[in-house]
Amino acid sequence: MGVGTVWFVGAGPGDPDLITVKGRDLIARAGAILFAGSLVNVAATGWAPPGCLIADSKDMTLEQMSAWLIANAARCDTVVRLQTGDPALYGALIELVQPLDAAGVPVAVVPGVSSAMASAAAAVESFTLPEVTQTTIFTRVEGRTPMPDGEDLANLAAHRCTLCIFLSITLLHKVEAGLREAGWPDDAPMLVVHKASWPGEERIVRGTLATIKQQCRDAGIVSQAMVIASPTLGARQWPELTKSRLYDPGFTHRFRKATT
Ligand code: SAH
Repeated sequence: MGVGTVWFVGAGPGDPDLITVKGRDLIARAGAILFAGSLVNVAATGWAPPGCLIADSKDMTLEQMSAWLIANAARCDTVVRLQTGDPALYGALIELVQPLDAAGVPVAVVPGVSSAMASAAAAVESFTLPEVTQTTIFTRVEGRTPMPDGEDLANLAAHRCTLCIFLSITLLHKVEAGLREAGWPDDAPMLVVHKASWPGEERIVRGTLATIKQQCRDAGIVSQAMVIASPTLGARQWPELTKSRLYDPGFTHRFRKATT
């Protein structure tokens, strides 16, 4: 049993062109593909070779998924588990890898473009800006999965850095409460991107801490959305910007000598 390798491949945020070349090549030689149909664009399976077994994990339990992967690794060299965005973020990666390890099935991971990055790209935003913030936190608010001690949004928001809040579009009241508890003002800029990068389906909502919940309600956005709170939002329109030291003419680094 277990001659093939199970590859956990990040499918990217939705646009099928945003999978990596490595991920696409693995799909093109896969004997079996299990994809997360609720979030992964089915178009990504279009590169699969004829005869490839393709299944949607939407209605499977974790046990059924690992059994499926183990069974197919016994008959194919390359089995692909296609996950949304990057497999390392909120993807039940370890829960699926452990039974494969126990069954002696080799496992490898191919990273993907996370929806956090696709959301920044959609809105032409930077999560870091010199002298504004140099830190980005990927988090969520508590839903059915409890938040570990010290990780509630109010604690994290106290850093005043960029917050990419996953899995929380239906919990905007909690997002708002956490940011307020940390002292973020009513006019703190907020960004919500729904279906970032999905051709023809992407929607961008810009607002403030005081307005974003109602704006999302009005826009009918209730799923697949990234919530971003950051002191960098809207910087494209700022008249004054502290330039990165990396491009400062007076700053010598590995690739360039200072000119002033
Ligand atoms: N591993 C994924 C995240 C999976 S959790 C990644 O790296 O992106 C699912 C959550 O990701 C959703 O609730 C939503 O917050 C976010 N998400 C996934 N795809 C998205 C997209 N195309 N646009 C905006 N948010 C998305």
